[in-house]
Amino acid sequence: MAERVLVVGGGVSGLLAARRHAHRGAVVTLLESGEGWGGRVSPLEIDDLTLDAGAESFATRTTAVEALARELGLGEDLVAPTRAPAWVVTPDRSYPLPTTGWLGIPTRPLLADVRRIIGWGAAAEAALERSRPLGVVEDDATVGSLVRTRLGDAVADLLVAPVLQGVYSRPLDELPLAAIDPTLPQQLRDAGSLLELASRRRRLAPAGASVMGIRGGMWRLTEALADAARAAGARLVWGTAVDSVEHVDGAWRVRAGGGTLVADVLVLAVPPVEAHRLVPALPEPVAERRVALATLVLDAPELDAAPRGTGVLALDGVTRAKALTHATAKWPWLRAAAAGGRHVVRLSYAIRDPHEDLLAHALADANRLLGVALPAERVLASALVEWPDASPARVRDEHPLPGLELVGVAAGLSGLAAIVGAQASRT
Ligand SMILES: Cc1cc2nc3c(=O)[nH]c(=O)nc-3n(C[C@H](O)[C@H](O)[C@H](O)COP(=O)(O)OP(=O)(O)OC[C@H]3O[C@@H](n4cnc5c(N)ncnc54)[C@H](O)[C@@H]3O)c2cc1C
Repeated sequence: MAERVLVVGGGVSGLLAARRHAHRGAVVTLLESGEGWGGRVSPLEIDDLTLDAGAESFATRTTAVEALARELGLGEDLVAPTRAPAWVVTPDRSYPLPTTGWLGIPTRPLLADVRRIIGWGAAAEAALERSRPLGVVEDDATVGSLVRTRLGDAVADLLVAPVLQGVYSRPLDELPLAAIDPTLPQQLRDAGSLLELASRRRRLAPAGASVMGIRGGMWRLTEALADAARAAGARLVWGTAVDSVEHVDGAWRVRAGGGTLVADVLVLAVPPVEAHRLVPALPEPVAERRVALATLVLDAPELDAAPRGTGVLALDGVTRAKALTHATAKWPWLRAAAAGGRHVVRLSYAIRDPHEDLLAHALADANRLLGVALPAERVLASALVEWPDASPARVRDEHPLPGLELVGVAAGLSGLAAIVGAQASRT
């Protein structure tokens, strides 16, 4: 009898797993609690536009996502974003980030675009870093401690913090270098200096854009993946949450939608807290943060000139939002679709109080970060979407129990490049 596989979660990782197991001849059922596919890569309908509700691009540091898009027939629709630096807004100034950096670390501190931000003295001090002995680098050294002692507070606070806080939602001084990539402490020891490590990493980066998107939105990838999983024979069911699972006599009994299904293999493709709720034998995950994305469609011809490039990173205390993407400036296809002076901006928030009305902050935050003063009547439409968010964690054992497989967020992975890459290597 063919193996029975039950996949919990219909985001990109669950869909990939469903397709993979169906291809090898298993009888696959995927259950998704939401009303549609894609999880954090799903569409958002707003003001006659179909936008991305969550992820809007993918990192090109590996070719995994691009290869998947091509395989799914989306090769012609792969698009690069407009080339423009990200801006930083601090309480008293706004500046574009230097383009020659890695994680915000300037590979050439004496260049004018770096000096303008941190000043001559700090730039000269940072430039000497290569000649100073590295000393001992502990495996758990934080980015904050390393950058402050090696390159100075100005580099840490004005260049590195804006880049990393937007991605990791943690202060630099609490962010281990190893959390970005477990091999980085050793790479730093090998390089002998932070500037040398940054230069090496930049040289390794593929030519061209560091992220890419799909014309029409990243959600098209999960839509195409759902079609491919079905074509491979998987049964996909949405609107059905898995309530509980139990491992009895070598099989999984899965309760969902008022019934019970039995499977030989259980694939968890849900956030770590949910995975632990379903299978308490899994290690307890770190507390879950929640994030929200506010999308505004604005009638704002004053944004045609893209005053802050494709997006802005806000230093703590400037706005309630931590970052803004000017989506119509970033994606030419969206600019064409929005037409008529409409602009789309996306603001990301860390949720502190579940009752806080984040949309109430969104217009004021957008005005502050974009340097404009749009009144409320210029907001044509708005939407707020919330998600549990997991910082990239160390990849756990992907087969912690017999017949149990963890993929995507459940395996501690974050970002499409990591998630698609990990499953591509399993086929
Ligand atoms: C706002 C935002 C923007 C992002 N932007 C980018 C980006 O630009 N580029 C990038 O590479 N990455 C981005 N990411 C990260 C990326 O989207 C995620 O890492 C990735 O989509 C996670 O995929 P997944 O399938 O593992 O998990 P999810 O997409 O979280 O899928 C899990 C699914 O499980 C379902 N589920 C949960 N519990 C149950 C249950 N009991 N029963 C059934 N179903 C259940 C959920 O409804 C969900 O659909 C972003 C994330 C967020 C939140």
